Amino acid sequence: MDITKIRISVSGYDELVNLMLNCTRCKLYTSRRRVVPGEGPLNARIMIIGEAPGEREDEEGRPFVGAAGQLLTKLLNTVGIRREEVYITNVVKCRPPNNRDPEPDEIEACRPYLVTQILMIRPQIIICLGRHSAREVLTIAGYPEKSVSNISSIRGRVFNARLGDLNVKVLPTYHPAAALYNPRLRGIIEEDLRKVKTLLGKGEGGGGILDYLGP
Ligand code: URA
Repeated sequence: MDITKIRISVSGYDELVNLMLNCTRCKLYTSRRRVVPGEGPLNARIMIIGEAPGEREDEEGRPFVGAAGQLLTKLLNTVGIRREEVYITNVVKCRPPNNRDPEPDEIEACRPYLVTQILMIRPQIIICLGRHSAREVLTIAGYPEKSVSNISSIRGRVFNARLGDLNVKVLPTYHPAAALYNPRLRGIIEEDLRKVKTLLGKGEGGGGILDYLGP
């Protein structure tokens, strides 16, 4: 995927957020209450990408503020990461009705926002929460869709991705919403998140050392 063609040309972050807040690129704008662009420091070394806003996020206009978000914050704290140091966003910025999965045309319509956010923030590590996020980020980076569609087989692995001129490590893990119903997954997410600190120690962007290592 040629992401230079997808990236939106904006003067800065505020203009990008304004575009998202006024977006009508897909049908989700008709049912949303608030757009949820994302939040966090613009120089964050860690970026977390979820799936789509839920009910609470749609009410507040902020990502991961509901039950899954509270669990996420707790799991981050457990491994020594403060939520305030992370930039958090979603694959799609508007809530799908009744929290259904985002549809392919909605994911595609939102792709320019996600790509532009990633290239603006330039994180060292992207944590993908759940299969939609992992599939979206890794296929944008050129991984074949079939190889990245099964979250159970790719979670906890580190992918060295190149997005335009950015080298970034991508770490897929389970979505915390799944762990609300299946507590066994909490320990697995925690185990995956523990890798983040070690990876950060390895310097700027993709160093080429960890090319697609298995767990
Ligand atoms: N689930 C997500 O994927 N994103 C949110 O912002 C909240 C719940």
